[in-house]
Amino acid sequence: MSNASTDTRIRIGGLAVQIHRKAIKNLHLAVLPPDGKVRVSVPAHITTEAVRLAVIDKLGWIKRQQKAFQEQARQAERRYVSGETHYFFGRAYRLKVQDSGKTHISIGAGNRLVLSIRSNADAPARERAMERWYREQLKARVPALLEKWQPKVGKQATCCGIKKMKTKWGSCNTDTGSIWLNLELAKKPVPCLDYILVHELVHLHERTHNEQFRGWMDRLMPDWSERRRLLNQSPLSHEYWQY
Ligand SMILES: [Zn+2]
Repeated sequence: MSNASTDTRIRIGGLAVQIHRKAIKNLHLAVLPPDGKVRVSVPAHITTEAVRLAVIDKLGWIKRQQKAFQEQARQAERRYVSGETHYFFGRAYRLKVQDSGKTHISIGAGNRLVLSIRSNADAPARERAMERWYREQLKARVPALLEKWQPKVGKQATCCGIKKMKTKWGSCNTDTGSIWLNLELAKKPVPCLDYILVHELVHLHERTHNEQFRGWMDRLMPDWSERRRLLNQSPLSHEYWQY
């Protein structure tokens, strides 16, 4: 099969869709940040009409992703001041910022997330403090999760790190055996964190999302698609794979 790829553009209703034909097996639909452009990657032999039908079939989902991007942009304008809503492992907390010489974050009564920080700390400094805290919280949970899942998966990650990623919840380097988790997972329900970790561990068996991959997921985590749906309600996951 040739590796050549071609791009075409079509319009479906008010929607501009870029069709990217290349040597792949499955249709892959993505709504891309930051402005919600729609791109469909398809095997070379798929007709434009078939793409059109696939897009129409997913129109509701596409609209939701595009809306989520707008919401994300709005949320990005956080100032880290008292009263704002911030999420921690799937629960909403009201931020309370209080003056303190020592930076510290804690969960207080009445679903409050209390950020103690020097009074002259600007928004970026407060954001960095929050991110540090999210990273610590996530990091603290990972060893137990690895201990639980690695024997079941039958593979060991050489390392499991946390980083900020724009378009992925997790990634796995199958050559080095290292796994990365998105820092944003600290804001999502815990079952989503398990799901992403198991998903990335299974990549140490199978590089692609093939039938064997799904077989592993079904055996290890029968409710994985429920968990994925939970994540799909979030702005970051804007990719849809059709098998
Ligand atoms: Zn994957």
